[in-house]
Amino acid sequence: MGNESINWDTLGFDYIKTDLRYLAYWRDGAWQPGVLTEDNKLHIAEGSTALHYGQQCFEGLKAYRAKDGSINLFRPDQNALRMARSCGRLLMPQVPTEMFIDACKQVVKANERFIPPYGKGGALYLRPFVIGVGDNIGVRTAPEFIFSVFCVPVGPYFKGGMKPHNFSISGYDRAAPNGTGAAKVGGNYAASLMPGAEAKQAHFADCIYLDPATHSKIEEVGSANFFGITANNEFVTPKSASVLPGITRLSLMELAQTRLGLTVIEDDVHIDNLDRFVEAGACGTAAVISPIGGIQHNGKLHVFHSETEVGPVTQKLYKELTGIQFGEVEGPAGWVIKV
Ligand SMILES: *Cc1c(COP(=O)(O)O)cnc(C)c1O
Repeated sequence: MGNESINWDTLGFDYIKTDLRYLAYWRDGAWQPGVLTEDNKLHIAEGSTALHYGQQCFEGLKAYRAKDGSINLFRPDQNALRMARSCGRLLMPQVPTEMFIDACKQVVKANERFIPPYGKGGALYLRPFVIGVGDNIGVRTAPEFIFSVFCVPVGPYFKGGMKPHNFSISGYDRAAPNGTGAAKVGGNYAASLMPGAEAKQAHFADCIYLDPATHSKIEEVGSANFFGITANNEFVTPKSASVLPGITRLSLMELAQTRLGLTVIEDDVHIDNLDRFVEAGACGTAAVISPIGGIQHNGKLHVFHSETEVGPVTQKLYKELTGIQFGEVEGPAGWVIKV
């Protein structure tokens, strides 16, 4: 069954109601069997901890229509593990990896007509989440939980190809030194709305967060991870307990080493030493790679490779990663799971 109502060429990153979503409840100490439902509204208790105390976490991954017509999920086991860690940090019950991947596969199969055709550059974006629900008022963990997965077809992040953007350093923090920066939780995003809006108002693509303890080292680029390439063929990405451990970042680290022959370093990225980089970028599931043209800090714009051209190493990393996701290039064992 096709999908005549969607124009694949103009698809962006906007909510579209798809046919079915997965819904499972945690009650009486265990996850109940999940079901697929047409209803895209949740009916939850007014006292739900997700609403008042931010007891919730989420994930983001994509299903790709591969070159041979099959459907690829990219490293869903890693999303399952990360969601289990996020749940653990917020005292929520963990969803077993098998249940997580099964839910994702069910949602992709049930909404197959929404997967953008191969060659359009788009994908089916999956949004798994866990929320604390049930009657409650005090600050404590919820009596019940919901695990749900819905999906939305999305277009390529950059229409007409990758291009660099400028970012500005924020004076705000998205997370605390021993807080929830490494967990994919809504609270971090709520804290990032105002800094992000201020950066966009000043005509930057987004803001960059420095380490919350000393404000001297780069941590995150909006809601994506930072990487820089040095003239000595090093791939450098911040080492910090408050950075979100991105799966795109993890994958680029491995590809940089094994396929591009770069030296991979997790290290402090001092804002006063950006000259060490010849290229820089932000990476994450939504944007894949967003090349950084320049970074605005203390009234000066530091430009890396170029404000208009994408650097050669960034290009190669992008080609390798998206090649694996769309089934054009063989990936490392276990990275691609067929639906
Ligand atoms: C999700 C996320 C990322 C990117 O993670 P991926 O697994 O690569 O999508 C980076 N930073 C933050 C703050 C995030 O929430």
